[in-house]
Amino acid sequence: MKSCPSELFYDQTEMPDLLTRLSTEVAARLRGAGHQVYYVGGSVRDELLGVEVHDRDITTDATPSQLKSLFPGALDVGAHFGVMLIRRDGVEVQVATFRTESSYRNGRHPEAVQFETDVVADLRRRDFTINALLKDPLTGEVIDPLGGMADLRAGLIRAIGDAAERFQEDHLRMLRAVRFAARLGFEIEAGTMESIRTLAPQIHRISAERIRDELIRILTEGGARRGFELLDESGLLSEILPEVAAMKGVEQPRQFHPEGDVWIHTLGLLERLGKPPIELALGCLLHDVGKPPTQTFEDRIRFNGHDRVGARMARGILTRLRFPSDVIDAVEALVDQHMKFKDAGRMGLSAFKRFVRQSGFDQLLELHRLDILASGGGLQSYDAVKERYAALPEEQLRPPPLITGRDLIELGLPPGPEMGAMLRAVEEQQLEGQLASREEAIAYVRRVWGQAAT
Ligand code: ATP
Ligand code: MG
Repeated sequence: MKSCPSELFYDQTEMPDLLTRLSTEVAARLRGAGHQVYYVGGSVRDELLGVEVHDRDITTDATPSQLKSLFPGALDVGAHFGVMLIRRDGVEVQVATFRTESSYRNGRHPEAVQFETDVVADLRRRDFTINALLKDPLTGEVIDPLGGMADLRAGLIRAIGDAAERFQEDHLRMLRAVRFAARLGFEIEAGTMESIRTLAPQIHRISAERIRDELIRILTEGGARRGFELLDESGLLSEILPEVAAMKGVEQPRQFHPEGDVWIHTLGLLERLGKPPIELALGCLLHDVGKPPTQTFEDRIRFNGHDRVGARMARGILTRLRFPSDVIDAVEALVDQHMKFKDAGRMGLSAFKRFVRQSGFDQLLELHRLDILASGGGLQSYDAVKERYAALPEEQLRPPPLITGRDLIELGLPPGPEMGAMLRAVEEQQLEGQLASREEAIAYVRRVWGQAAT
């Protein structure tokens, strides 16, 4: 199993030691004061799966005020919920008082928490059995009151207690089920899946931001293809991303897409993503989102303008899901530009330079590679673009301007919009490799706009 995102932030050789040291210290202090204390949740699950652990959740019967006096330096993250955050040397441990939650309103947040003295009560309010395993921090013993070990061995995501009830309490758990199944390569247990299918239409009751955050994780933590297959099977896809669900059954010309319809093709890109930046992942997901509405049956099946239409749709979808504007801009550009590679071989030097120096080009290049691989194509044109790009030194790609507006004024040209056009023409010639110095540029301006320039 691959390691967790912490590799981006921490020196991996030191990280587990620091976390282990901090967690054992916190646990020992609680135990020393006579409290029950356990590791719980994701870290216990991931350790048993052999996945690197990047944070620790500790659960205890110590009350919030007892926690405060035991850990005076800890960060109180919502006193109401009785959760303390202890940070040291770049690692963090969360300590929470045993509790149950009640009075869920609209399937979102609990309205009240009650602190408990029985750890099993705390486990029962958690989402899935594999997330409700305990580990004794001092002996290392795993404690499993709810059958999490059997499900971990069988590779099953199973809701704790009555699945329908649990998803009614918090609709986000439906997406969490998909996320864990995708990331861990697990199945969603049949009864749990059945409840998600029934309740999928209610997913809209949770905020777009929370849906967005789960989608980001499904797309970027590994297993994106499986995640989207499960979103589809569970009925969540057509609720959250109907434009993507519409790709299903949209036939394509066999000669370009032997793999199948637009949906199958899109899954082929997701399958090859690994752990990508979110813009690339969304670009892959949405690159052909314009195909369903543009499909026509002419000499063959065609999707005229699907890149343009898709780019506009991508903006709409991501705005609805409250993605930040820089992500929306980047994804819109990826979708808009993804067909440009078919002309790249024929581009003149200046057009090619402008193409490859646009922001996000590396992601566009990668999207193109995945697009080709997902339709079983060869990488000749990809390699050709890459080689041509690699052969261009930075100073040829983004050369400093040979002349400025001031030079044109000195030549006696009248200021105005014409000047912009002249400077662009000079840059064009420069990118083509036709002009290499200030003198050549001035001579060029004199030649072309001779009458105006003195
Ligand atoms: P990850 O590796 O993605 O962080 P995790 O299992 O640690 O996975 P968290 O969201 O960090 O997930 O939550 C920690 C624990 O809290 C979970 O393992 C689970 O026991 C519980 N939990 C979190 N969110 C919910 C929820 N919406 N409903 C019920 N229990 C939850
Ligand atoms: Mg966690």
